[in-house]
Amino acid sequence: MGLVHSLPSDWKTIIRSSVCNNEKRPIPHTPYVNLNCGFFPISDVTSKQIYNSFLCKKQIPPTAQQKISDKYLDTIINWKKVYSLPFRTTLDSKLREFQYKILNNIVFTNDKLFRFGLSHSPNCTFCNEEPESLEHLLSRCKVSSEFWKEVLSWLKENNIVIESFNEIGLFLGIFEESEDFLLINHVMLLGKYYIYVRKCLGSLPSLRGFIARIWRVYNIELHIARERNKLATHFKKWEKLVVAF
Ligand SMILES: [Zn+2]
Repeated sequence: MGLVHSLPSDWKTIIRSSVCNNEKRPIPHTPYVNLNCGFFPISDVTSKQIYNSFLCKKQIPPTAQQKISDKYLDTIINWKKVYSLPFRTTLDSKLREFQYKILNNIVFTNDKLFRFGLSHSPNCTFCNEEPESLEHLLSRCKVSSEFWKEVLSWLKENNIVIESFNEIGLFLGIFEESEDFLLINHVMLLGKYYIYVRKCLGSLPSLRGFIARIWRVYNIELHIARERNKLATHFKKWEKLVVAF
């Protein structure tokens, strides 16, 4: 009894009301299960449907996802494809992690570091003219913008054409139908990470430095493909750039 008395009165009210509700609703002959879209006889549902229902209850979309959707209102975003893209394009866990940080807006650019008192200025490391947001650093800065122009032109010289290059494609992935889909998205992801690394080092991105970086990645993937006996897939992905190195 002492234990019951120690419970707060509002807890006791909740317990009493839930007991009453159970009395009003006797256990049915056929047990029903509450899925997201209503109650169903348990005999009619599959374990996969129940699993997915639990999954939906546990999954909460990240707040950054809503912010991105709000920012690009005119674009229908397939988030499943966006989240799985880095796993399709690269084996490099650092690159996958970097894209995860972009999608969750947790890349530490100067505007954030300044708010935390960890940078002497919120301005861009490259141009020092505008606050260094993630959008500015990766896309809008005149330095990054020039870098991407050079990258696109280099890709074009090697018969890799990106029809619609824009900010949202750069951030989330380029989903246009193309035989070079994997390579294009890998290069874009590498480019974003390369810009970020240059920023951290306090030096400017260059096409020459970027090509050297891609060459190193090519050789790492070549080594892995050899080990896994997947050389044909590797050469199919990289065939247009092999001659460019
Ligand atoms: Zn800038």
